[in-house]
Amino acid sequence: TDLSRIRNFSIIAHIDHGKSTLADRLIQLTGGLTEREMKAQVLDNMEIEQERGITIKSQTVRLNWQAADGETYELNLMDTPGHVDFAYEVSRSLAACEGALLVVDAAQGVEAQTLANVYQSIEHDHEIVPVINKIDLPAADPDKVKLEIEEVIGLDAEHAVEASAKTGIGIEEILQAIVDRIPPPTGDREKPLKAMLVDSWYDPYLGVVILVRVQDGVLKRGQQIKFMQAGTQHLVDRVGCFTPKRVELDELGPGEIGFITAQIKEVSQTAVGDTITTVKNPTEKPLPGFKEVQPVVFCGLFPVDAADFEKLRESLYKLRLNDASFSFEMETSAALGFGFRCGFLGLLHLEIIQERLTREYDLDLITTAPSVVYRMDLAHTKNEDAKTIELHNPADMPDVNRIISIEEPWIKATIYTPDEYLGGILKLCQDRRGIQKELTYVGGRAQVVYELPLNEVVFDFYDRLKSISKGYASFDYEQIGYREGDLVKMSILVNEEPVDALSMIVHRGTAEERGRGMCERLKELIPRHLFKIPIQAAIGGKIIARETISAMRKDVTAKCYGGDATRKRKLLEKQKKGKAKMREYGNVSIPQEAFIAALKMG
Ligand code: GDP
Ligand code: MG
Repeated sequence: TDLSRIRNFSIIAHIDHGKSTLADRLIQLTGGLTEREMKAQVLDNMEIEQERGITIKSQTVRLNWQAADGETYELNLMDTPGHVDFAYEVSRSLAACEGALLVVDAAQGVEAQTLANVYQSIEHDHEIVPVINKIDLPAADPDKVKLEIEEVIGLDAEHAVEASAKTGIGIEEILQAIVDRIPPPTGDREKPLKAMLVDSWYDPYLGVVILVRVQDGVLKRGQQIKFMQAGTQHLVDRVGCFTPKRVELDELGPGEIGFITAQIKEVSQTAVGDTITTVKNPTEKPLPGFKEVQPVVFCGLFPVDAADFEKLRESLYKLRLNDASFSFEMETSAALGFGFRCGFLGLLHLEIIQERLTREYDLDLITTAPSVVYRMDLAHTKNEDAKTIELHNPADMPDVNRIISIEEPWIKATIYTPDEYLGGILKLCQDRRGIQKELTYVGGRAQVVYELPLNEVVFDFYDRLKSISKGYASFDYEQIGYREGDLVKMSILVNEEPVDALSMIVHRGTAEERGRGMCERLKELIPRHLFKIPIQAAIGGKIIARETISAMRKDVTAKCYGGDATRKRKLLEKQKKGKAKMREYGNVSIPQEAFIAALKMG
């Protein structure tokens, strides 16, 4: 296709403002699917994605549309994941586009998530076309929303398209605006092939499917291609696009987005951002911006029922077929038995995998405290030289006397927030050992940049930020390397026995507070026994916090639990259903839910 007839764009929207509905409408109007095929929302195809309203794997759709000038245009709609854990994937998807539709609900106006995404899009020099959606609603106030777009985001909204993805008003206008306002891609057909690997996923029939954006040259079936970063070669056996049905094509030319298959068995062989070229006539330089993504948050996953271990292993293998960014290796724990140490891109990523294991594979799991990767310099011993190690699991903490120094990963966090929540957010960052780097105001909004230890962010930072700002603050981060810290291992003892699943590495300065919080929560979560149960937090041999669950008198009925009675009763009811969901520590039965609840810092 002639470059001048191609447009590549993504859709930016706050949750529920109508991104999926609009995408469906665009597909319907351009004839990609029949009425019956339209029934299900097409773009978010996984159950979890639908429930959480986020898109995990991008799905890109080609729309062929005849514009006012009588020419047929190829419009490539790029769907992007919508969460910080997948920031790098998002950046690659955006790098493959020249513009974006900014969808804003006519009754709700500009909201939190919109902003973070708009800024990212602007960073990629995108032409942004504002769309005021849901103008069919009685509460719609498009003029007010236009003003907001101008004042809050700083975009010219005079020519915003007013639309209703529900009734179909304005959809043609949107397509025309894409053609008129978003610039065509650039590229040179005569140059050697240079294409970006935007995304990949596993398809049971096709093997690994790779989404590509061609920069220069032509990508064809039968070509021997090379992944420049990975250094591997493959034979292209299919080239095509999605309308969203899979359509095979003869080639993908410069500026085009589409898919290829090349008999690749695992997504781990395909790195997002890699440059694809031909073996015969390779391009000189790879595309800029490549990054190797690595898991940053680790935790242990153990089956509640030891008999499920093999099932857990198989399920993890299956999930990994489609997600190379999480890792797992076997782990044994004194109390929890056989399980896996798993690595994730972030906490949401962890939750998604955990939820899929529970829901799709029907597994009951215990998750241990999430941890980042620490680096430690160890002194030599009689039998061993001095060395530097990476610690993924607090349970493997070496002897304290041998540790010369511990380093932890730091991040640079950028937060956008309406002014009114700024105070609370600064306090949160300060409490988490943050170092303020910048604070600027743009029309009623503040942008704060903080350096923070990742360790302080992985637990609940994001949830806290959202609750402090009523959902309006946005958060984005990048890793900035390791720094030395005064870090210690905190153990939790139940009835004098350490519970390894609950041990964690913390900063000495916040250890006591963390320890106290953990003991208090466990006191609420562990049911009373016939004997008194001490719950303690300790650093080395030193107890830093303590709570006691008093003994249950024999004649006491279920009404008399201490702590949060309804919560505890709920736990007890669940326990009754499955005795297997309890774990024994020093003769104390701890319900499975207690682990998860205790780990949610609050
Ligand atoms: P997304 O989270 O941005 O993908 O939003 P969805 O497309 O899932 O839409 C969220 C809700 O808004 C759904 O219930 C849609 O039916 C509804 N919706 C989307 N567009 C419109 C519209 O133009 N008018 C009205 N009244 N409702 C809409
Ligand atoms: Mg959606």
